[in-house]
Amino acid sequence: MTSHYGTLLLREFTMIVQRFAAGLCSALFVSTLSVAALAGAGPPPVQPDHSHAPGPNVAIGPIPVGGNVSVVMGLDGFAGGNVGVSSGPDGLLIVDDLLPGFQHKLEDVLSTMKTCAECSDVKYLINTHWHFDHTGNNEHFGGAPVVIAHETVRPLLASPQELKLFAMHFPAKTRAGLPDVTFAGKASVYFNGEEIELTHFPKSHTSGDISAYFTESKVLHLGDLYFNGMFPVVDLDHGGSIQGMIASIEAVVKRYDADTKVIPGHGPVATMKEVRAYLDMLKATTLAVQKAKTAGLSLEDVQNKGLDDRWKDWSWSFVPTKTWIMFIYNSL
Ligand SMILES: [Zn+2]
Ligand SMILES: [Zn+2]
Repeated sequence: MTSHYGTLLLREFTMIVQRFAAGLCSALFVSTLSVAALAGAGPPPVQPDHSHAPGPNVAIGPIPVGGNVSVVMGLDGFAGGNVGVSSGPDGLLIVDDLLPGFQHKLEDVLSTMKTCAECSDVKYLINTHWHFDHTGNNEHFGGAPVVIAHETVRPLLASPQELKLFAMHFPAKTRAGLPDVTFAGKASVYFNGEEIELTHFPKSHTSGDISAYFTESKVLHLGDLYFNGMFPVVDLDHGGSIQGMIASIEAVVKRYDADTKVIPGHGPVATMKEVRAYLDMLKATTLAVQKAKTAGLSLEDVQNKGLDDRWKDWSWSFVPTKTWIMFIYNSL
């Protein structure tokens, strides 16, 4: 599975890793990312952090989205995937839990969001998928709330994983960090006066992506099915595919009303208008790469040719245009 990654220039690759690491300012995470891995040595495993250290030097905060639901995100840097929070008389339900190292900051923010003295407990923790920037503090929270995920997520978290493109290695999580409840197609949680619909979208960003729709608040958390204004990551080594991404976002656009508020995995809160723009980008760039591949162009040829200028603003440090082309090319 490594050959298609081999074409990424080492310089570009190292730059991506360095930028990512610099954004985190986390000694814990830098050790996980491991410059050592680039040199061929095995990285040290991530250990659950039971200290009361202040955490990485990135501020996080809550932003109201709609109804019961807020989003917690990095305010001045990267803290991981956006966290959806339902706060009300039943307590707290969170969707995803940031990068490792942010557990105390997240707890501090959550403690300001409770609606009564007894309402501070996190009762449910939903994992949109297995990635480290969405499940980084499962072990910290995992002992108390019920952890819910798609059925493919538990076995992934229960064994060591690797993201080859980014030279990242992850040890198996302990029991406290594993989902307690898994499901296949759909599940519902009734909490804080509304139904929260969990829906699986197969073979998209990974094999086990789920959305969480808060039916009264009219807020949809899409996890990494949706990167707002940025080319997304497609984890080809863990069941992701561009065809699945397109099918999933097409289904989302058909299903949810125009006034639905959308929490992406990464980027600011969006409306369905922006999700439709994302779908247009997915379809148009995939079509362009497909035409070039069918015409016999190699991956390098397509990368050198690039994409239409109208997509240049979607390129970013972690998924520049060449990486986006690689995800599409190797998915087709
Ligand atoms: Zn993510
Ligand atoms: Zn992800």
